Amino acid sequence: MPKYRQTEEILKLMENKEQIRNIGVIAHVDHGKTTMSDSLLMAAGIISPKVAGTALAMDYLEIEQKRQMTVKAANVSLLHEKNGKSYVINLIDTPGHVDFTGKVTRSLRVMDGAVVVVDCVEGVMTQTETVVRQALEEKVKPVLYINKLDRLVKELRLSPQEVQNRLLQIIQDFNKLIEEYADPEFKESWKVNANKGQVAFGAAKDKWGFTLPMAKERGVKFSDVVTAYTTGSPDDLVKKVPLYEAILDMVVDHLPSPIEAQKYRIPKIWQGNPDSPLTKSLLDCNEKGPTVIAINNVVVDPHAGLVATGRVFSGTVKTGDQLYLVNAGTTQTVLQVGLFMGQTREVADKIPAGNMVALLGLEQARAGETAIDPNYQKEGSFEKMAYISEPVVTVAIEPKSTSDLPKFIDTLHKMSIEDPNLQVKVREDTGEYLLSGMGQLHLEIALWDLQQRGFDVVTSPPLVVYRESIQASGGPAEGKSPNKHNRFYVAVEPLSEKTLQLIQEGKVYDSQDFRERAKILREEAGWDTDEARNIWTIDERMNIFVDRTKGLQHLREIKETIIQAFLWSTEAGPLAQEPMRGVKAILVDALIHEDPAHRGPAQVMPAIKNAVMAAFLSANPTLLEPWQKVDIRVTTEYMAPLNRIINQKRGRVLEVIPSASGNNMQIIAEIPVAESFDLSNEIRSATAGKALWGAQFSHWAPVPPAMLNDLIMKIRSRKGLPQVLPKPEDYIEA
Ligand code: GDP
Repeated sequence: MPKYRQTEEILKLMENKEQIRNIGVIAHVDHGKTTMSDSLLMAAGIISPKVAGTALAMDYLEIEQKRQMTVKAANVSLLHEKNGKSYVINLIDTPGHVDFTGKVTRSLRVMDGAVVVVDCVEGVMTQTETVVRQALEEKVKPVLYINKLDRLVKELRLSPQEVQNRLLQIIQDFNKLIEEYADPEFKESWKVNANKGQVAFGAAKDKWGFTLPMAKERGVKFSDVVTAYTTGSPDDLVKKVPLYEAILDMVVDHLPSPIEAQKYRIPKIWQGNPDSPLTKSLLDCNEKGPTVIAINNVVVDPHAGLVATGRVFSGTVKTGDQLYLVNAGTTQTVLQVGLFMGQTREVADKIPAGNMVALLGLEQARAGETAIDPNYQKEGSFEKMAYISEPVVTVAIEPKSTSDLPKFIDTLHKMSIEDPNLQVKVREDTGEYLLSGMGQLHLEIALWDLQQRGFDVVTSPPLVVYRESIQASGGPAEGKSPNKHNRFYVAVEPLSEKTLQLIQEGKVYDSQDFRERAKILREEAGWDTDEARNIWTIDERMNIFVDRTKGLQHLREIKETIIQAFLWSTEAGPLAQEPMRGVKAILVDALIHEDPAHRGPAQVMPAIKNAVMAAFLSANPTLLEPWQKVDIRVTTEYMAPLNRIINQKRGRVLEVIPSASGNNMQIIAEIPVAESFDLSNEIRSATAGKALWGAQFSHWAPVPPAMLNDLIMKIRSRKGLPQVLPKPEDYIEA
C-alpha cells in the first residue's frame, strides 16, 4: 500500500479514539525486542524485509549503536486491520539496556500498553522484572510475547509436551509479576491467559508467531513448530501465522484505547487539582478540551530544528497554537504539527487527544516537559521539575581539525539538548570543551555518536566527579558577617537514606506545598513535623536548609539571601570544591542587624557560607564516589577472568544467574566508576569480545578511609588549591 495513502488514513482514524492504541515494546536486553519491532515496521512497509530480522550477535556497545539506528525508526504510527476494522497503533520507542536519562519512565508515560518480550530459553529475567514493574507503576498494561521458540527445538531439543510446559512456566512467572506489582484493581484482570489470546508465541527472527485462538482458527499446533525446525521449514508458519498479525491482534484486543486508559491513568500520572475541568478533560481524553501534551523525547533535526514528540492527552493541537511549557516556564508557538512514520515526519493540520504528535517550534522543550494551553498554565503538569542527576564522569574533548570547530560546538549543543544528562561546558581558563555524563559507557556512546556525525575527536582521560558529604552531626558553628554585625548559627546533619530516596523519586521537592511535603517526610522518613514544615529549600544537589529559629526579628527580610547563600555553599564543598550531597543545614539562631544597610547580601552571604562550611568540617566529612552496576552476560568459561577483573577494581559480585540452557551466565556486579575506565577493553580482551554487557549509575558511597586523604589532595592539586586540609577554624572569623 502506498505510504501517502496510509498516512491519510491514519490521520482520519485518529479522530476515532476507540481505534487507537499507544504501545511500546519492552524486554530484557537481547530477548528480541528490536527484531520483533522490526517485523512490525516491515509489515507496515516502513523498513525493507531484508533489514528486518538480521540482528547479529555483537558486543554491547555495538548493539547499542545498532539500536540507536533502529530507535529513530521505532517511534511510528502503524495501521492495522482486524475484522474489517482499521486501527492506528502508535509504537513508542523505549530505550534499551541503559537508562541514564529517565527515558524509560517518560516513554511509559505516553503509552497505555506494552508488549513484553521474553526469550523462552532464558525466561523472565531481572530486567524483565524491572521493566514490567516500571510499566505497572505507571498503570501501563502489559501483554506477553514469548520469543525464540526455535531455540527450544533446535538447541534444547524439547518435545511438543516439554515445549508447552516450559511456556506455561514463563506465563506463570509473568503473572507473578502482575500479582506483585500491579495496582490492586488490576491484580486479577491484568493477568494473562494464553487461551484468551493474551500471550503470543513465536520466533521473531523467522517472522512467525501466534496466539492460541489464532493458532486454533488457522489449524496450527505446537507440534508444527517442532516439525518446522526438525524436518520442515519455518516458511510454512510464516505464511499461516505471520508474527505481526499475532502481535497487533493481541494489541488491538487486549490493550486499552486512550479513552479507556486515561480514566485510570490520569489520577496516577497527572499532578493537578483532581476536580478541575481540566482534569476532567484529561480523564475523558476530550479533544475539545484545553490542550495538554506530555513531551517524551526531543531530537534536533538539521533542517527543521528541534522536534518534540509527545502524546496529546487533552485537546487538539494545531499549527500556530501557543503552548506554555511548564518546566521551561515559557510560552512558544507551534510552527508545525506532524506525525512520525519511521524516519520521516509527515505534516498534519492538527492532531487530537489520544494520539502521538511531532511538534516543531517548541525550542525550549526537553524530554519530560508538559506543554499546556497558556490559559491553564498554573493548573498542573505530568512531571514536576525533575531531579536531574548530576554527571559523574567528565572528559575534555576537541576536534582533531580546528576548522571543524564551529560545527563541532553546534553538534555538542544539539547532543546535550537531546540527552539532558549529557552536559557540555567550556573551561574558561583553558578554553577546553568538557563533556560530562552518567558513566563511562554513557560517554563512550556519546563519543561514538560524535564520530557518526563526522567528527574525529581527541579526548583527555576521563575524570570522576565526586560529592562531598558528612557522616555525623556537626555544629552549631558561628558565621560572622564581614562587618561583624550579623551572626548566624548553623548545625548540620546527614540526610537519611530514606529522605534522599524521597527526593530522588520526586516525591519531595522544592516547590511543593509545605504541608504536603511535611506530611510525607514525617510519615515516610520520620521527620519532626515542626522541622519538616520549616524547610526553606531543597537544592538540586539534594541538600536541605531548615529554619529552626523562633520569633527572630528581620529574618523574613533576608530569607531569600540566606537561601542563595546556602545554594552557593553546596555548589562546592570545603574538602575539594566538589558539590555537596545529602546535607541538612539547620539555622538554629541568629543575630541580625536592624538596619537593612548593614544586612545586605554582601554581609549575609559570606556569614552563612562560613557557618555551613565550619559545621560541615566538624561533622566527619568525606568524599562520596559514584558506583555503577554492571550486568555482564558470558558463556561459563569466562566467569573466572571476569571475577578477577571485578575484584581488581574494588568491585563486588552481587548475583550470578545461570541461564536456563546452562551455557550462559549473567553476572550482576558493582564497581566504583573511578575504577571502570578501561572496563570495556578489559572485558573485551578477557572474553575474546564475546561478553554482552551494560552499565548503569547505581549509587554514591563514601570513599574508603584509607584512600580519602590522598584523593582529596589529588583533586586539590588539580584545581590549584593549597595542599592542606581545611579546618573548621578557617571559616570562623575572629
Ligand atoms: P533486543 O536486545 O531485545 O532488542 O534483541 P534483538 O532483537 O537485538 O535480538 C537479540 C538477538 O536475538 C539477536 O542476535 C537476534 O538475531 C536474536 N533473535 C531475535 N529473535 C530470535 C528468534 O526468534 N530466534 C532466535 N534463535 N534468535 C532470535
